[in-house]
Amino acid sequence: MSVAPSSLGSQPIGAVERVFDDVFQLKLPVPFPLRFVSSYLVPGDRGWTVIDPGFDYPEARDVWELRASEIGLDLDGGIEKVVVTHLHPDHIGLARWLHERSDAPVLMLEGEIENAREVWNPARGSGEEFVRFLIRNGMDDDIARPTAETTDLGVRIPDEIHPIQPGDSMTIGDGHFRVIHTPGHSDHHFMLHDEGRSVLVAGDHLLLKITPNIGVWPYTKPRPLERYMDSLEDLRVLFEAETVLPGHGPIFHDMGGRIGELLAHHEERLDEMHAAFSDGEPETPFDIARRVFPDGLSPHQLRFALAETLAHLELLSDTGRAESIEGEVVRFRAI
Ligand SMILES: [Zn+2]
Repeated sequence: MSVAPSSLGSQPIGAVERVFDDVFQLKLPVPFPLRFVSSYLVPGDRGWTVIDPGFDYPEARDVWELRASEIGLDLDGGIEKVVVTHLHPDHIGLARWLHERSDAPVLMLEGEIENAREVWNPARGSGEEFVRFLIRNGMDDDIARPTAETTDLGVRIPDEIHPIQPGDSMTIGDGHFRVIHTPGHSDHHFMLHDEGRSVLVAGDHLLLKITPNIGVWPYTKPRPLERYMDSLEDLRVLFEAETVLPGHGPIFHDMGGRIGELLAHHEERLDEMHAAFSDGEPETPFDIARRVFPDGLSPHQLRFALAETLAHLELLSDTGRAESIEGEVVRFRAI
């Protein structure tokens, strides 16, 4: 039996609904197979808190305009703060737009701000560094270039972002939330836990139906998968939230059950990757990605497949089940 979705938050994409006490969920469209990102909106004495404002493109801005007025949220003066769980474009994208309209501060974990400045640096150039990273991991030149181009999303982050720290407490509406650093999906991703009401705003750390992408990227610290799985193990003993409000997909209630499923998924994935090697032959990470992931992936999906494969190969070699052979192109061999 797998963890069941909640009956909360059953509104369609583009609509807003009150899903928990004073917390509203706005389902914003995204131009990716994910279909939507959930922004959580909470009214308070000094204005609204917006958690994860969504991907910046006209469809999402239109939804914001329409639904904010429906719930009495004034985009030009009624926002107290904008909280961003991590630097990915579907979460941080509209932070600058909301900040410019409302003058509300934007908050993120300190290390994530630094990474966001690097990733979304407009002076970064045409992504040559990323092309080299892809080629080094076994992609052919003619696939690497269109794949690298899919990172060029024109994201502009706010000039000023206010740093927060793990363990900080944050008042959001009627709730008292604690900031919990949960690495893996990005290095300085965080969740917000309100122990009193047993509710967790999970960002992309815990998702139902899909598993968060855990990948090695040029800017990430080593061992994202190990850090992700360790974080899941820690959470399991730290608390059990009765309601989990994730960044994508359905709301759910069985936090511990979902953590168990996510850990099992990655254990299976490690076995699959290990089995994907031909006997004793060194293979590139991209060779393995093509064997393990389905055919016909778009360039956008290919880079996630490769990053996810790298994260698993890294953990296989850290646990003595594979070894990496350095060279102009990196290869691994199963042990
Ligand atoms: Zn994300």
